[in-house]
Amino acid sequence: MKAFQSIRVRLTLWYAAVLAVLLVLFSSAVYGFVYLRLSEQIARRLDDQYAALAQSIRDEPEVEELEELDRIGLTDAFEVRTDGGLLYRSRRWPASDRATTASTGETTTRHMHTELALYRVRRGTIDSDGQHFAITVAVSEREQRAMLGTLAAIFLAALPIGLCVALVGGWWMAARVLAPIAQLTARAREISAEKLSERLPIANPHDELGRLAAVINEMLGRLDSAFGRLRVFTADASHELRTPLTVLCAVGEAALQDGYNANACREAVGSMLEEADRLVSLLDNLLVLTRADADGAVIRREACDLGALASEVAELMAVLADEKQQQLVVDAPAGIIIWADPMLVRQAVLNVLDNAIKFTPVGGHVEVRVGGTATLGAVTVRDSGPGIAPEHRERIFERFYRADSVRASERGAGLGLPIAQWAVTVHGGRVELETEVGMGSAFRLLFPLYEGDKP
Ligand code: ADP
Repeated sequence: MKAFQSIRVRLTLWYAAVLAVLLVLFSSAVYGFVYLRLSEQIARRLDDQYAALAQSIRDEPEVEELEELDRIGLTDAFEVRTDGGLLYRSRRWPASDRATTASTGETTTRHMHTELALYRVRRGTIDSDGQHFAITVAVSEREQRAMLGTLAAIFLAALPIGLCVALVGGWWMAARVLAPIAQLTARAREISAEKLSERLPIANPHDELGRLAAVINEMLGRLDSAFGRLRVFTADASHELRTPLTVLCAVGEAALQDGYNANACREAVGSMLEEADRLVSLLDNLLVLTRADADGAVIRREACDLGALASEVAELMAVLADEKQQQLVVDAPAGIIIWADPMLVRQAVLNVLDNAIKFTPVGGHVEVRVGGTATLGAVTVRDSGPGIAPEHRERIFERFYRADSVRASERGAGLGLPIAQWAVTVHGGRVELETEVGMGSAFRLLFPLYEGDKP
């Protein structure tokens, strides 16, 4: 049964089976057609001969006339009886029947049937000159039957030959059709996670196999870039984790070397906790992004007031703005209801506002405004900071990306904006950025409004 799992075997068998059915149908149709035509031919001959014999008896019902008819061969075989018995029987009358008649003087139906099996017979009676004539005309079917027999033999011989040809041809054709699949299989087997940049060969991009190979190649491309991103992400994450861990170790070692000075120890533990805090928040961010990638983040949507959420976050961050003597203006009217997970909205606003305060110099200006359009609710965080240069605008939403100018002075892992962007887009919203170097930046987070008919 294993052989039937091969497409080549199945294709060949299907091909042979279809051809066999076609051959049988075609042979039967031809045989039936020839049979009918021959049969019609015999019936016509019989009718003609019967009519000629009947006419002759009506004209002159004499034995000499019948002999003459027999001699010129107008009919195949005939027999004429009168009430007194057999009047005339043609020379070509079927042999065994002639013998029987000779012995009994009368036709026995059984014999007639046996011998006349190869004849088609028509009987009838006519009256002429006040006499009653029973006439029988027989037309031989021998030739037609032989012809049909030969035809049947030819068809019967053609069937197995045709089947053999179909099997061999089908096997060869299937091999030709499947050859590119074998090539694809061999090539696909060579492609591993380390060789994802390789692609399958496409012989003809317009046929089914070409399209399949193209689709697989596209998939390989996506896998390749996903693997690439994963590699970069892992490398960046390791790098980011390494820095606070190195600081932790260095502070710990320095404290040990300093001896057991209580103040120095307290200071060391304080900085170690600070670094541990950084580590924890970094790991939290990594976890958020990993879950987002795996579609494993739990999102609990509900109708929430964007103004209230933005005010809450602004209140929380006001301490940081105060520390930098920045003016934090909040204009967040209540009543703009969005359909979102409040935790994620808070996180997005927090990340953007944190950046605004972080990157805006001491004494600067930061504002948080909530507004909206017919379908979207918007939080805009505007600052009077350094702005973002065009070459960085596209890239600041990439993971671990930090613009160099601010990299050295401000500490951050470069995950704040990617998380904010994910938190917005996962709700079907988007992030817009307006910025000019030296003029500050404005990040606008847009969320879909609550339409009132959500579950
Ligand atoms: P992080 O703040 O941890 O560095 P983010 O992903 O939040 O990472 O931001 C990426 C980069 O975008 C920042 O390093 C900074 O260069 C730039 N950036 C973000 N917000 C601002 C802003 N308000 N003003 C100027 N630059 C910004």
